[in-house]
Amino acid sequence: MPLHDFQKYRLMAPGPVPLSQKVIEALRLPMIHHRTPEYEKIFQEALSGLKWMFQTRQPVMILSSTGTGGMEAALVNCLSPGDKVLVVVSGKFGERWKKIADIYGFETEVFESDWGARLDLEAFESALSKPGYKYKAVLTQVCETSTATLHPIRQMAALCRRHQAEALFMVDAISAIGCTPLPMDAWDLDVMVAGSQKAFALPTGLSFVALSERAWEANAEATSPRFYFDLKLERQSNEKGESHFSSSVILIRALNAVLHEFKAIGLENLAEDIGRRAEATRRGANELGLDIYSQCPSPSVTAVKVPSGVNGAKLRDHIEEKYNLTLMGGQDHLKGKILRFGHMGAISPEDILASLEALALALRDLGYADIKDPNIVTALETARRILA
Ligand SMILES: *Cc1c(COP(=O)(O)O)cnc(C)c1O
Repeated sequence: MPLHDFQKYRLMAPGPVPLSQKVIEALRLPMIHHRTPEYEKIFQEALSGLKWMFQTRQPVMILSSTGTGGMEAALVNCLSPGDKVLVVVSGKFGERWKKIADIYGFETEVFESDWGARLDLEAFESALSKPGYKYKAVLTQVCETSTATLHPIRQMAALCRRHQAEALFMVDAISAIGCTPLPMDAWDLDVMVAGSQKAFALPTGLSFVALSERAWEANAEATSPRFYFDLKLERQSNEKGESHFSSSVILIRALNAVLHEFKAIGLENLAEDIGRRAEATRRGANELGLDIYSQCPSPSVTAVKVPSGVNGAKLRDHIEEKYNLTLMGGQDHLKGKILRFGHMGAISPEDILASLEALALALRDLGYADIKDPNIVTALETARRILA
């Protein structure tokens, strides 16, 4: 007899994420035109709220695209064909940085970090200080969502500054902002990219990008082709209180609702809350006898190893069908090997507990006999204590 009500649908993916009631209400408001004094106020409020989220004095620009568009915008606005860039590749999203960089004709060098491993700062430092290698940019994820691994960004940024003084340190913070301390100015990050469907807890469809002064200087020289993603034009329009192209009115109004909520909670508390969900999930999974995939687990997403002998793809689908709960599997060589639990968005403690219970019951349904009733009870108690 399940302890949770699995009639209720639960979206537990690392993006998109469940929406709060306040956001749903904001999304329901009637459409208005983006070139109106009424909207100008809303838009300005969003821009200033984003600066607070990014902890920067620089303008943050809003693009009507998913996070990947923000990554592309970051690259084409700061770099020129032939520029040498160092790309940290530790999973699917690092590969994405590299793919975009290759398409625009940058000369890419890869710093490979094993999937799920703790990023080796000494090896990273060696890559940055290799004689004869001068980079225009260093690209990395803060959290590599595909492996649920957090990278030591503060230290990486400092090493980049020490050994590659002129390189732009560009971070894909899409699954990290709001989940872990990430003060853009204080840590001297040159480009930071975020997206709406992760910790911002909005529907998919917006990306946010900010450039440091150093990056704006690079922008003046950068010759990569760009049209929609021209951040300088966007910035100039923003300074006049408007967006350069049509604005995503409905999403940006909802963004303000989120920023209100976040300001009331506080950035630190928001991150702590998400971190607690991750810890509860990890400890709960351990109590079920399961291992965590990443050596350096992220607060925003947890990858639980599927026990050997169990078909992970089948397990994921079974949880979706029988327990009405969406988790994500692994990609490429992690296909069928991990299950990823998202911790961002409007998730309640009960949702976390239900996801652990669903995992345990589904494993048993598939014939995995190692999990007994007392294991489930202990796992849920442990997780509940952490979430309290
Ligand atoms: C979700 C995500 C992206 C962006 O993916 P989109 O589907 O384009 O929104 C990029 N990087 C990371 C680390 C992500 O988690």
